[in-house]
Formats: sequence, C-alpha cells, structure tokens
Amino acid sequence: MHYKLYFSAMLVCGTFMANAQNAKPEDTEVWEPVPKTITPAKNFSTAPSDAIILFDGKNQDEWVNTSDKSAAKWTVAKGILTVNKSTGNIETKKTFKSYQLHLEWKVPANITGTGQARGNSGLFLASTGNGDDGYELQILDSYNNKTYVNGQAGSIYKQLIPLANPTNKPGVWQTYDIAWLAPTFDDNGNLKTPARVTVFFNGILVQNNSELQGATRYIGKAEYKRHGAVPIKLQAHGDKSEPLSFRNIWIREL
Ligand code: MG
Repeated sequence: MHYKLYFSAMLVCGTFMANAQNAKPEDTEVWEPVPKTITPAKNFSTAPSDAIILFDGKNQDEWVNTSDKSAAKWTVAKGILTVNKSTGNIETKKTFKSYQLHLEWKVPANITGTGQARGNSGLFLASTGNGDDGYELQILDSYNNKTYVNGQAGSIYKQLIPLANPTNKPGVWQTYDIAWLAPTFDDNGNLKTPARVTVFFNGILVQNNSELQGATRYIGKAEYKRHGAVPIKLQAHGDKSEPLSFRNIWIREL
C-alpha cells in the first residue's frame, strides 16, 4: 500500500524522487563526538523469580525462525546460543509490550573484520513486522573498532548514540540490562506516546530514558507505524565475521 502511494507521489514530484534515489547509507552516519571509553566492573546475572526465561542454556524452545516461524535453528552447545547466519534472524514465540530484559553476548576472541562487519548482531526490542525490522539496540564489537557512533554497541541504531563505550574486548561476555517502554498509538494509528529505552551496558548507563524517533531504518529517517505486542528478535547479520553467542536471556513484563 505504501509503495503505491510513494509511486504516485514520485510521478508528480520528480525532484523529490531524484533526491530519494541519491540517498546513501552514509547520509545518516554520525562519527563524532566519540563516546568516552570506560572499563566496566565484572558482574553476574541471575534471573529473578518473576522472569520469563528466554534462554537458559539448554535449548532454543522459546524462539522461532523469523522468516517462516519454524523452530529456531541456531546452535546450542555448552550452555550458549550461537548465531547460525545461514538460517537468519530468530524471534521469541511470545509477544511483549513494555518490559525489563537481561541478555549477555560475546564476540569470538578471534573475530575479524572492521566497522559494522565485525561481530554485528542486534536486539530488536520490538520486532514490528510492519515492513520494518523494529527498534534495534545494536550489538557489535565496539572494542577499538571505529564506526559511526550511532551504530556502535549500545546505540539505538541510526538514532541514539550511547552515553559511553564500556565494551569488553572480544572473547569476554558483555551484558545488556534494558527497560523498554513500548510506544502507544490511538485508534487511527497515530502515535500517542513514543517508545523509550534505558540501557545498562556492562553495568554502565548508555541510554537514559531515551526517546525513539521510530522503527530502525538502514537508509532514511526512522518512522512509527502502529503495532501492539510483538516478538523480540535477535539478528543474524550478513557480514562475514565469525558468529557471536548469547547466554542468560530473561525478561520481566511491565
Ligand atoms: Mg546490528
């Protein structure tokens, strides 16, 4: 539906269309100021008694393949869940609105690649399924790995720069502790209240009740489209670097 409207608009607005065609990923990259690097304290994670365990080290039963909703086919071994890039993104069977979530991720010690092509994954805080992926909290090896700062670990991709960079070196577990406040919409689909997110990254506050501009876009400006309770998604990024791993994923609905 939207592309039909867009097509009509472009017939009457050639100049606008020319500009849109010239849009590049680099247009929305921001490289400065670079967040201060911080060495985080060691920390441990145990799910509280009221949490829903999304991954406990034993199986991926709470997850499905995003593309066809079949059983998730990432690799579970030795208590950790490792991305299988050939099978694509996975998402929770359950749907959620607002929540608190804990997740741990680790980039392999032998990671290769640079910039966005080095240990890239992502936690889609709400997988909207509206033709967008949702709202991506970036996962990336951001230990001495330069990239645009609204695309480094702890950013809301292409929207919100993290307040600091507490990334551990590759091979060391990292933690995300997140409070997600889902956006709300009126009956006509108009935005009533925007999404907000608070993120502690290795115990360091990197998003402080930050307001989102809409669902993540790789190219162009973020935008809201109405949704209700939706799954949470983990990204199998298409870069060539070694796949990263997850453990101890739990959630508390708010
Ligand atoms: Mg990503």
